[in-house]
Amino acid sequence: MSNVRSDGQRKRVFIRTYGCQMNVYDSDRMADVLRPLGYALAAGPADADLVMLNTCHIRERASEKVYSELGRLRDDKAERRAVGRDLTIVVAGCVAQAEGEEIIKRQPAVDIVVGPQAYHRLPQLLAEAERKAAIRRAGKRLPGAGVLDTEFPAESKFDHLPAPQGVRAGSAFLSIQEGCDKFCTFCVVPYTRGAEYSRPVSAVLAEARQLVQAGAIEITLLGQNVNAYHGEAPASSLDGSTWSLGRLIRAIAEIEGVARIRYTTSHPRDMDDELIAAHGNVPQLMPYLHLPVQSGSDRILEAMNRGHGRDHFRRIVDRLRGVRPDLALSTDFIVGFPGESDADFDDTMRLVSEVGFASAFSFKYSRRPGTPGWAMPGQVAETVKAARLAALQALLGEQARDFNMSKVGTSVPVLFAEPGRKPGQVVGKTPWLQSVYADGPARLIGRIVDTRLTEGHANSLAGEVVGRDYEVAA
Ligand code: SAM
Ligand code: SF4
Repeated sequence: MSNVRSDGQRKRVFIRTYGCQMNVYDSDRMADVLRPLGYALAAGPADADLVMLNTCHIRERASEKVYSELGRLRDDKAERRAVGRDLTIVVAGCVAQAEGEEIIKRQPAVDIVVGPQAYHRLPQLLAEAERKAAIRRAGKRLPGAGVLDTEFPAESKFDHLPAPQGVRAGSAFLSIQEGCDKFCTFCVVPYTRGAEYSRPVSAVLAEARQLVQAGAIEITLLGQNVNAYHGEAPASSLDGSTWSLGRLIRAIAEIEGVARIRYTTSHPRDMDDELIAAHGNVPQLMPYLHLPVQSGSDRILEAMNRGHGRDHFRRIVDRLRGVRPDLALSTDFIVGFPGESDADFDDTMRLVSEVGFASAFSFKYSRRPGTPGWAMPGQVAETVKAARLAALQALLGEQARDFNMSKVGTSVPVLFAEPGRKPGQVVGKTPWLQSVYADGPARLIGRIVDTRLTEGHANSLAGEVVGRDYEVAA
């Protein structure tokens, strides 16, 4: 298939990413797969020959956004065809996995539907889509227009992907684990991402080295259940046949050039001794942890099939703070899970007050088809969910502001990531993953620079760069 436009320019791809960091990583990897085919990156859909939507299925609103976007793309495709041009539309990610052929039925303008485990096969899928398009252009009829690949292939996609290029401003994601076997009763992930799988240690370390060579100084290890990691140990390992996440982090910290390590998302059940110890004795492991608790009510945690209660969560937090007192703790909450009473919600509010979070994400329960929660009695009214969410977010917002204020007046190393909204401004992250805005030249982007924090807000801080001659501070 030709990857050159009729005007002689290279074809362009635009990838729109919805949802979590795993999807950001996958989008980068899909761009890596398309690069050898000659595709350049487009600035937006209008400028692209190939538009890919890398979708999220976690909550109903996330899926619905995809269909609105597909409606716009269908109109664009029709306009282009009227003037002899074309647009190829691909739906990837978790909506693709969950809804498969339904997507093509609901929106026939879609050319390819590809699940999160099959995107290394994009070259073959694009060739097949092009073959079908050529038949259509010749005026022949085709049974089944789109191309579908939502298998969980026996081969791992990771063994078939080119070297990663996705380093942005010194920071890179590295996917080490996928899928989930925990089956929380609200969650679609075990169905869309499949069974839990850990990449072998040697493959992870090789990718980490490639990322450092490509300019990464911060690596964020990703997985739906990243701390359930149990990758096959290197042949030379004296530390058993599989390594835990804590052991892996120690090895990544030994790679020269790695200044910061983060990981997400974790499950309270998998915070083992080695990982907790790493928070105390691996200096590159940043003092920030996203540890979703979902609810403060033991009754609801059980109905959610979380496999941990509120006391278990509190004990883990105490141990983590024992080894790393300045740890910034972040979490996720779901309000209005089926059967959640006022008393259950009060338990959640109490847990928040007792633990104290530096940041948090909180959601109204979204009823997902195919999950056990869908059929549970005691579905909570939307108005009740909304009132609980507002109360919870007010408390969490106060805690986030207090945490940010507690850093005002200190100087901290900030990894600058992008230009700010105002001219001459740059934005970066502290070790505790707070956003910091400061005046400074664009050359600071991708560097860690000491910055004095001058003002604190709920979602960000203002600062002044004080790193002498803008030297790297880490
Ligand atoms: N593996 C992580 C864990 O065990 O907590 C969560 C990963 S999930 C992709 C991210 C967050 O989405 C969850 O922590 C949960 O708060 C939220 N979420 C998942 N399913 C949801 C649903 N049906 N309704 C509302 N929020 C949901
Ligand atoms: Fe979903 Fe996380 Fe539960 Fe797995 S552990 S089912 S990813 S919420």
